Amino acid sequence: MVYSDVLIRGDQTKNMNEVRRHYHRCNLCPRACRVNRLDGEYGICGELSTMRVASYGLHHGEEEIIVGGGGSGTIFFTGCSLHCPTCQNQDISQAHSPHGTAVTIEQLATIALDLQSQGAININVVTPTHFTPSIAAAIALAKAYGLSIPLVYNTSGFENVESLALIDSVVGLYLLDIKTLDREVARIWCNSEAYPTVIKTVARWLADHRPITEIDESGALTGTLVRHLIYPGTLPATLHFLHWYAESFASHSWLSLLTHFYDPDDGRRSFVLSKDEYGRLIALLKDLSITRGYISGPDGRSRWIGDLV
Ligand code: SF4
Repeated sequence: MVYSDVLIRGDQTKNMNEVRRHYHRCNLCPRACRVNRLDGEYGICGELSTMRVASYGLHHGEEEIIVGGGGSGTIFFTGCSLHCPTCQNQDISQAHSPHGTAVTIEQLATIALDLQSQGAININVVTPTHFTPSIAAAIALAKAYGLSIPLVYNTSGFENVESLALIDSVVGLYLLDIKTLDREVARIWCNSEAYPTVIKTVARWLADHRPITEIDESGALTGTLVRHLIYPGTLPATLHFLHWYAESFASHSWLSLLTHFYDPDDGRRSFVLSKDEYGRLIALLKDLSITRGYISGPDGRSRWIGDLV
């Protein structure tokens, strides 16, 4: 369903029911809990049907193309359907996080408009999966009231494509984690052996629906920016991912390769790629003709891959 008419025209009750029905027997993500989030039942994401926002504001810590001069208008939601053991946002992504404030669709639309008036170059919804129908309706509503900056859908990639279809019409850029294609790495680091199968389905869907990634006339990146973080001791899995990416997805997207891992628990597993490993990675990117995107170096600086290969 396209939400551009939801809440603006027609029967409001019917429109709201259309949003609400997705939370009844919820299967918005691959966990498919089938709980009734409208009636006090929690699934793995740990959130009911009312959106909860942990914080929002102008963010300058994303890739250069995402933050621009004005910053990314970032909205952090509580809860998550994946629960990676080393999540960088554990305090808000945990089930039943105490840090969220409940917001209505109208209030989220107002937040988006507020961020635009503060100078944000986009609206960046972080971990949106379990609230996708409500976010879609809120962004459609905000657009009707003057939101002109693009929506960045910032996701772990653990998605059902049917849910992505609910919001696709209002998304400018998918900021898509592809964490790993290795089942064992996924089991240990992503809390789901199914992740590789899920993410390949998502990638195929995006390749069909958003085959082109480019900078539009307004200067915004549209399409898909894939993020891949190298976990400690998993460089072989990253090399496997890069071969798959070059063959299956590089023509459809840009890449952001992150070579610094921060362990949020006690720092013991924090890790930075060595200069030698970094050099091997650059050589492979060159061999695979991957040029569009960024890579963070051993010095922590992010560089355009095309300038290095
Ligand atoms: S969004 Fe939450 S309740 Fe719905 S299927 Fe996913 S984890 Fe379960």
